[in-house]
Parts: sequence; structure tokens; C-alpha cells
Amino acid sequence: MPAEFDLAVIGLGAMGSAAASFAAARGARVLGIEAHFPAHALSSSHGDSRLIRLGYFEDQSYVPLLRRAYENWRSLEARLRADILTVTGVLQIGRPDSKIVSGTKASCDLHGLTHEILDKAEMARRYPAFALEDDEIGLLDPQGGYIRPEAAIMGYLKLAAEDGAELHFGERVTAIEPDEDGVDILTTTGRYRARKVIVATGAWIAELVPELAAHAVPIRQVVAWYQPEDGFAAQPGRMPCFLRDEGENGSYFGFPAIGIDGVKIGRHAHFREPIDPTAANPPVNEADTALLDGFARKRLPKVASTRMRATTCRYTMLPSEDFLIDYSPTHRNVVVSSACSGHGFKFTSVIGEILSDLALDGGSALPTSLFTFERHFGSKG
Ligand SMILES: Cc1cc2nc3c(=O)[nH]c(=O)nc-3n(C[C@H](O)[C@H](O)[C@H](O)COP(=O)(O)OP(=O)(O)OC[C@H]3O[C@@H](n4cnc5c(N)ncnc54)[C@H](O)[C@@H]3O)c2cc1C
Repeated sequence: MPAEFDLAVIGLGAMGSAAASFAAARGARVLGIEAHFPAHALSSSHGDSRLIRLGYFEDQSYVPLLRRAYENWRSLEARLRADILTVTGVLQIGRPDSKIVSGTKASCDLHGLTHEILDKAEMARRYPAFALEDDEIGLLDPQGGYIRPEAAIMGYLKLAAEDGAELHFGERVTAIEPDEDGVDILTTTGRYRARKVIVATGAWIAELVPELAAHAVPIRQVVAWYQPEDGFAAQPGRMPCFLRDEGENGSYFGFPAIGIDGVKIGRHAHFREPIDPTAANPPVNEADTALLDGFARKRLPKVASTRMRATTCRYTMLPSEDFLIDYSPTHRNVVVSSACSGHGFKFTSVIGEILSDLALDGGSALPTSLFTFERHFGSKG
């Protein structure tokens, strides 16, 4: 059967919507298939805000990709004439030798990134929202800020459709059958054929990429929003986004009062509870709110006083907590995008470009060596 499409993108969340847009902009005949609807509550891409920062403690090799991600976010905004990325600065708080602070400092030094080191007194003067221990500091990444995930996804889908992509919602892909010339795609309502497929199905990745079944672990994540005592103290102009290294108690992230519900807080990976991606997320419970309320009281006493709401989300973790973006080890016509271990959204704008390059060009000039099957699992198969 001849291919009706150059490319089918399965899963139109963050990575899939961006990939569909990049490929359609290049003139490819693109089919996008989404089981639910954009940025739905069981996906990993809802909840008003995602951090972006240029200094990257996780690994120095992410920085060139971040530079490209920033450029691509600005291009998206220009095409949409909408605000997607807001620069507020990101404070990385902790002891100077903590993983987040020392790793971000090393990243800034290596890549010549502007940053400021603020001691406790300077932090109290400039950013009174944050309570520090005597031996803690703040490292300000002035390029950092937040992205609006729902607007980004809707924006990429709008552009993909304008550029001719055919987008299906409420249709689940049940199987992919690759062969030498292309891929058959079976769904709950139809069957299609494309020359290439991108699988960007987030927490459900292992259903279509069985090689990841033992490695990609969906876990439950919880975030909560708080109102300040003083209604203006948490406005973005007065309070930057932050990451806070709490040593063996993990790390927390947060945002100023972007929307009506106030300051948003979460702990990276929360309790690391694996979940069944086919079931609804277990609801927010007392242990969840006790953890986040305790952090709010201790570390943000003036700006996170009253909890307004809390919700669940999903991370999908790989053992290294890096991303996996590569051809399937068994079928080169299938490109795989992992859900990116809880820190991928900021890269959506560059991962979309990489996925489109891999599918349409057979490779990408952007640096992806950190993300291969071989690097993750030591072999191609
Ligand atoms: C609470 C929380 C906070 C986060 N904070 C940050 C942050 O501050 N900064 C940052 O950079 N990253 C952050 N992340 C991580 C980031 O949001 C994720 O890495 C990213 O959203 C993953 O996008 P995705 O496209 O892989 O998955 P998703 O956006 O979940 O998309 C997958 C899509 O595939 C669809 N799908 C699944 N199976 C099928 C199928 N068989 N057929 C058709 N469609 C299918 C799903 O319905 C879904 O819409 C956070 C994540 C969470 C949960």
C-alpha cells in the first residue's frame, strides 16, 4: 500500500505537537493522532507553567540545546503573536556545594552564562519571599523564567494545522506495524500508512515501544498553589521562579503568582510512586499536601500562606533521568521521544525540531548523543 503520509506523529502533547508543526512547516504531509485532547489532565503537560533556565546543573551538554530552545520559543511567539515564554529569572537556592547550586555554577562558568551569586543578606534584601538557612545562597539565572504549556501546545497545533497537517483527536493508536518502506498505523477508528512515525506518547510510551517497558517508569507528581498574606508579594516582578536543593530531602521547584491561584510549588519526582498509565491518577491525599504545605511554611512563609488547590500530573522517568530521542532499535522508520524524566518541557521547542529532522532527514545536526538508546542501555537492541 503506498504511504498516504510522509509522517505520522502519535501523541499530540508537548513533543508531538511541536514535531508535527516543524514537519508540516517543511512541507511534509503530516498526520497527527491524539488519544484524548491537547494538554489534558492525564498528560504530563498541564498546570499553567513550566520552568526554563539556561544554566543547567543536570548536564553541561544540555546548554547548546537550551540556546536553540530559546530561539525556537521566540520564533513560535513571533508566528503566533502571543506570549509563551516569560523571563522572570530563576533562583537556584541551596548550600554552595549542593548539586543544584554547584552544578548550575559549573554550567554557567563553562558556557560563559550571566549569573549572580547572592548571600543570605542580599537574598533577604532583594527577594524577601525566600527564607534561607545561614549557610545557603541563591544563584540567579537572569535568563530563566516560565513557559505556558497549554498555550505552547495549542500554538504548535494551530501552526501545524495551518501548514496542512491533518490532526485527529479522540483516536488512540493501538499498534504500529513497521516494514522496510514505511509503517502501518492501526487506531481505534482506522488504519493509515506513513513513510515514518514519531512515537511521542508520554507516560504511555512503552505500549508502542516495548523496548522501554522495563525502563520508562511513569510516576505520580503533585503540585499545589498558594496565596500570599500580602497579595502583591508574589507577583512575577517581585519573586522569580526557583529551584531549591534540600539535600537528601530532594529538590523543590516553584513559580511566582502567575495566575489567580497564586504561587505554585512541587517537589521533583514527589514520592517517586510508580503508577499505571492506563488508570486515572490516584487523587491528592493528606501525605501530598502535608509535604507541600510543610515546605511552603518553612521556605516561603510570606508568599505561600493559604493553599488554594492541588493537582496530580505524571513524570515518566528513565534511570539516568536524561531524555531518549532516537530511532527505534528495531525499526529505523520509527522515531521515539521519551517523556523526558520530569524536566523536558522547556526543550519542547528544540525536541520538536530534532524529531522532525530525524524523521524527514535521517539525522539531525543538533546535538543528541546524550539521548540515544545506545547511551542509555549500552546497545542498540
Ligand atoms: C507537575 C510537572 C511539572 C513539570 N515541570 C517541568 C518544568 O518546570 N520544566 C520542564 O522543562 N519540564 C517540566 N516537567 C516535565 C514536562 O512537562 C514533560 O517532560 C513533558 O510535558 C512531556 O511531554 P510529552 O509530549 O512527552 O508527553 P505528554 O504531553 O503527556 O503527551 C503525550 C500524549 O500522547 C497521547 N497518547 C498516549 N498514548 C497514545 C496513543 N496510543 N495514541 C494516541 N495518543 C496517545 C496522550 O494522550 C498525551 O496527550 C514537568 C512535568 C510535570 C508533570
